[in-house]
Amino acid sequence: MDLLETLVAKGLRRELPTREEALAVLATPDEDLLDVVAAAGRVRRQWFGRRVKLNYLVNLKSGLCPEDCGYCSQRLGSKAEILKYTWLKPDQAAAAARAGLAGGAKRVCLVASGRGPTDRDVERVADTVSAIKAENEDVEICACLGLLSDGQAERLRDAGVHAYNHNLNTSEDTYTDICSTHTFADRVDTVQQAQAAGLSACSGLIAGMGESDADLVDVVFALRELSPDSVPVNFLIPFEGTPLAKEWNLTPQRCLRILAMVRFVCPDIEVRLAGGREVHLRSLQPLALHLVNSIFLGDYLTSEGQAGQTDLDMIADAGFVVEGSDEKTLLRDREPTAADADPVADGDLVPAHGPAADADLPEQLADRRRDLVSVRRRGAGTDLPPNA
Ligand code: SF4
Repeated sequence: MDLLETLVAKGLRRELPTREEALAVLATPDEDLLDVVAAAGRVRRQWFGRRVKLNYLVNLKSGLCPEDCGYCSQRLGSKAEILKYTWLKPDQAAAAARAGLAGGAKRVCLVASGRGPTDRDVERVADTVSAIKAENEDVEICACLGLLSDGQAERLRDAGVHAYNHNLNTSEDTYTDICSTHTFADRVDTVQQAQAAGLSACSGLIAGMGESDADLVDVVFALRELSPDSVPVNFLIPFEGTPLAKEWNLTPQRCLRILAMVRFVCPDIEVRLAGGREVHLRSLQPLALHLVNSIFLGDYLTSEGQAGQTDLDMIADAGFVVEGSDEKTLLRDREPTAADADPVADGDLVPAHGPAADADLPEQLADRRRDLVSVRRRGAGTDLPPNA
């Protein structure tokens, strides 16, 4: 059976592809791209119909992080000219969340820079959750506060937090290339702590950091092994002033192949198109809606996205609908499958696909892409209204 037919059949059965099949998706030629999108789109429609879930980021604390994640504009030693501020007050965070909810967001993601929260920080977040829920009782709140210590996940759950985000970001083998201050295992441990407390786990990746296809497949299989409810897929925003500022190596076609691969490996998991979509997918963003069932509305933590209304227009124009707050994201409660228990597929890894497709990007084009990165100057932490 042809690769795509096999992957569709497996996706419709919630069956894990082999690593070879996942790698083969990443190796498909550009002329087959629409076939790949159509195939992964069938799996997406099976589990999520035409619904797109909107999520809204509120950066509670920006910059000034003691950790050294190389991709992050908030890292130790970052020269990126981002907004820097300490904890927003609950009413300030609630005002930002209100704008996102008014724009159609179903989930509010409360994010703070740092290695992990103190117990006092967790109480601040609990107060913020109360302030948001006082206006919108049913809002789904996700917290993203870094590495958790004992008891913190339970306290967040009791405060009304629904989900906890902590991304694995890249493969275990390459984790030390992007960060020296904490480990891949630390990250896995926090995701598992959140799950053990009954929080919905959200954990994803960043593509475009110079990794191989095998690394991408490794991190997606590692995520699948953790069985999160949602998987955000970020495309590196190479901020000037960070170690990865020169990593302009994604094309829109490669981004779509990565999203298709994630969909085949995570057929019924919420796959979210996250940071970097405007910068790397550019005019092909609407095609990605056939692969993912979730996006962020408006701006990101430290960079600006396209206007919230443009997101809504794009969804409508592409024939999708915004998921309502009364609709379930996952069509049925996900139960562990045989694949969840034994995600390591047969066979050895095929060699990594060649270098990322944009390796020879002319300097002039690279300059135009750098111009697409705009540091966030509105919304949380400023006097300007948020983009939603
Ligand atoms: S990703 Fe998080 S922990 Fe790492 S530098 Fe950025 S804010 Fe700090």
